[in-house]
Amino acid sequence: MCVSEKPVIVWFRQDLRLSDNPALAAAVATGAPVIPLFVLDEETPGQWAHGGASRWWLHESLAALQHSLQQQDASLVLRHGNAAGIIRTFAAETEARAVFWNRCYEPYAIQRDKALKSAFKDDGIEVESFNAGLLFEPWEVKTKSGTPPKVYSSYWRAMRLLGDPAPEGPAPDQILPVKVLPPSERLEDWKLQPRNPDWASGFSACWHPGEDGAQAQLDWFLENALEDYRNGRDFPAQPLVSRLSPHLHFGEIGPRQIWHRTVAHCIQSGDEPFSGSAEHFLKELTWREFSTAQLFHNPDLPHACLRPEYEHFPWDRAEKPLHAWQRGMTGIPIVDAGMRELWQTGYMHNRVRMICASFLVKHLMVDWRAGEAWFWDTLVDADLANNAASWQWVAGSGADAAPYFRIFNPVLQGEKFDKAGEYTRRWVPELSNVPNRYLHKPWDAPGNPAPDYPPPIVDLAFGRVRALAAFKSLGDEAQANAAKCA
Ligand code: FAD
Repeated sequence: MCVSEKPVIVWFRQDLRLSDNPALAAAVATGAPVIPLFVLDEETPGQWAHGGASRWWLHESLAALQHSLQQQDASLVLRHGNAAGIIRTFAAETEARAVFWNRCYEPYAIQRDKALKSAFKDDGIEVESFNAGLLFEPWEVKTKSGTPPKVYSSYWRAMRLLGDPAPEGPAPDQILPVKVLPPSERLEDWKLQPRNPDWASGFSACWHPGEDGAQAQLDWFLENALEDYRNGRDFPAQPLVSRLSPHLHFGEIGPRQIWHRTVAHCIQSGDEPFSGSAEHFLKELTWREFSTAQLFHNPDLPHACLRPEYEHFPWDRAEKPLHAWQRGMTGIPIVDAGMRELWQTGYMHNRVRMICASFLVKHLMVDWRAGEAWFWDTLVDADLANNAASWQWVAGSGADAAPYFRIFNPVLQGEKFDKAGEYTRRWVPELSNVPNRYLHKPWDAPGNPAPDYPPPIVDLAFGRVRALAAFKSLGDEAQANAAKCA
């Protein structure tokens, strides 16, 4: 094989798209044949293997990527096993001249990729990594004193000082295929989708995984929801959030694409992009960056409290409260609605995620890591950084966290954000005959209008007092830290 025929491998990971994909663009620019590869890696130590809902999404997303590549006469090669071993063998088998990928930021991936880079260099194979997943790299965003920002507001300010994110890149016009395609495993054989029972049967009705689905979702959001995002994003019955999170997690769309299209949409509509709803949306997108930076700088984030004093919290280890919460059978309407939405669709609205997480950690005093693990398994957007940072935020143990003593009252939250009960009744049909006045506290309703609904698993006033007492037991340090954040 002459040098120019030697292929370049593009190792797809969390960047399952053709547009704005710098690793793919760089491979095409070499003029060499390109082999797109995806490895189902469930063996690298230290990783959080895909949860059930993510596996469903991954199947659909890979099928969509295969289809897009086939339209360019290219083909996605699938292998499974330990990614580091597989990719080195694959590079040797195909006599690759280079291996390109877009960066991932999970601690195990960073470690694996560093080791791979030096191994490929030793083998004389060119290797390069790119940024496809973030507006800016975590190490680029610094305070004036050169340290990583510890709170979100300072992260946003520091990031804005860097200017606009890099422009988005187009999809390649043509991907030169190899003459003889290496053998690929069959996606169906990976059995990523559940069977017997097919608990994900409801997912297809709400989601369109893949790059086209992601682009369509962004277009829909900009046209129909962006304008009311700031005021509407807290109301779960309203379709006023983007629902882009799973597309972003799997890299079917990149944050730079979302950023620039949002700005362009505002300019076209004669609106100012850095005020009102549009800025609010860009700021939410930046929470994702902040979470990734937190994970990058604190690799223990998914399993250790960032504020170490929280490790002494007297968690309730009983299984019953956790199970009731997981099944949406706590007897607290807004919590049960959220947990059932999660189970049936793989998604939960952000406001309701906060309510459900707070209820678990504070009223039930269950360790935030149990909630994190359940979300990991059931969310289609399960993301190590966002999930861990958000759970620590709710628990009070994280950076820039909600102070522990600020305990959401799920009745008041329900009455404020789902006043007419549209969201709650959609997911908890047992409450359909409860008048609005009692919907979020059916235990007070006269005449037992919801006989099939369970009584509350905990008295809310008692749960609150118990949680505050437990928080006090952590001592002065925890309280001083919480007061600083209040
Ligand atoms: P939009 O409101 O339309 O926001 C646009 C994008 O900004 C989102 O897609 C997301 O990428 C990002 N974003 C918005 N809010 C946040 C936030 N608070 N933190 C980080 N990024 C944010 N998000 C995940 O993507 N994966 C998770 O595993 C995850 N776990 C969570 C666990 C808990 C306990 C909580 C409270 C929040 C969690 N979030 C997680 C954050 C947030 O709830 C979701 O990103 C959001 O609900 C996704 O819906 P959307 O795309 O319509 O958001």
